[in-house]
Amino acid sequence: MARMTDEEYLQHTGTRCPYCRSDEIEGYELNFKSGTISQEIICLNCDARWYDVYRLTGYEEVTPKGEGRVP
Ligand SMILES: [Zn+2]
Repeated sequence: MARMTDEEYLQHTGTRCPYCRSDEIEGYELNFKSGTISQEIICLNCDARWYDVYRLTGYEEVTPKGEGRVP
């Protein structure tokens, strides 16, 4: 079976092994760089390893609970 493309991997929101499609995957520690976080993932079914990559896409305002949006 061919491994997943990035698009296919994103369709599964990273919950499946891109090599064997198993959902028996486990994540390890997060590696922080500026604007990027990567996390090593291992597949318990086929022993494949890869990195999930997260990129900073912006920021969101914090709204205090019960107070609504502050103008
Ligand atoms: Zn696998």
